[in-house]
Amino acid sequence: MLGIHRFWAADRTVPCYNRNQYSFMPLKPFAPNHGADKKIFLLKPRGFCAGVVRAIDVVKIALDLYGPPVYVRKEIVHNKHVVDELREAGAIFVEELEEVPTGARAIFSAHGVAPSVRGQAKERNLDIIDATCPLVTKVHLEAVRFARDGYTVVLIGHKDHDEVIGTLGEVPDSSYLVETVDDVNRLELPDPTRVRYLTQTTLSLDETREIVTRLKQRFPMIQGPPAQDICYATENRQMAVKAVSEFCDLLLVVGSQNSSNSKRLVEVAQNFGVCSYLVNDRSDVDPIWLDGVKNVAVTAGASAPEHLVAELIEFLRERGFRQMEEIELVDEDVRFSLPAELMISIQ
Ligand code: SF4
Repeated sequence: MLGIHRFWAADRTVPCYNRNQYSFMPLKPFAPNHGADKKIFLLKPRGFCAGVVRAIDVVKIALDLYGPPVYVRKEIVHNKHVVDELREAGAIFVEELEEVPTGARAIFSAHGVAPSVRGQAKERNLDIIDATCPLVTKVHLEAVRFARDGYTVVLIGHKDHDEVIGTLGEVPDSSYLVETVDDVNRLELPDPTRVRYLTQTTLSLDETREIVTRLKQRFPMIQGPPAQDICYATENRQMAVKAVSEFCDLLLVVGSQNSSNSKRLVEVAQNFGVCSYLVNDRSDVDPIWLDGVKNVAVTAGASAPEHLVAELIEFLRERGFRQMEEIELVDEDVRFSLPAELMISIQ
């Protein structure tokens, strides 16, 4: 753990992202706990991002407007609790569009789809509502533009993640995927002077920086997108974890095992030497983890509902963590409008 006795000064600033721009916010001072009592540091921002709120709203509104069943391709967001709740309300989750009856209504998840999936939807005459997060769409559009201008696209991301599959599918003949610095070392490109990189929206800021540094060493002409692809929600949640890491013995992240941004929060804490676990909900917490722990930080990935956080807090209170302080990095105010196809039906 990094120097646990240093106070976070009132004039200390941390980079954060809001209203589509970067700024440096003074982190509100908080009191590290050196007393005898056990304490919870509840991080903010945490939980739902604007893309997740929009995607869940899309499914709920579609169910209200059209009635069940409404088909959803893939998990609408990567959270089991959210998916189960929507399933109970009448949504039918499918892996591929072949499972959707011809002519039915289907929703694309927040992670986006490749053009081949859109083509398939057209062939099957499906009525599509696209809940792809606008920040994922931004990456797709960048990939298309770079490829159209004759560049090879190097995508930094995780193989098999829905978002990565969708982005690579936009430019299958001119894209390469790298996950690690070693992948960059092995990379052979057709023209190393015409190359651009993009990233998945939910990566670790630090790991991505290392990969980009290596890309620039190997391909000095490489350039990235005009604005970073790692999204505001991913960045802010990671910065909040960093801000509190030096004062905590344990970080609990509420989120699903297939949630990329949630897993990155665990890694960020671990890189700071803090023991950290990803939990679906309070039932995943092994009480042994709390042995000898005085300061526990709690956060939630961008697809984890707040009621699960509240239940986890209750669990910790029952085990002697009676003090709690909310540590706020930035008041996020990002909102996305509903997809046009849904707005038309509402009006
Ligand atoms: S994590 Fe970021 S990219 Fe993903 S849905 Fe949320 S805002 Fe969009």
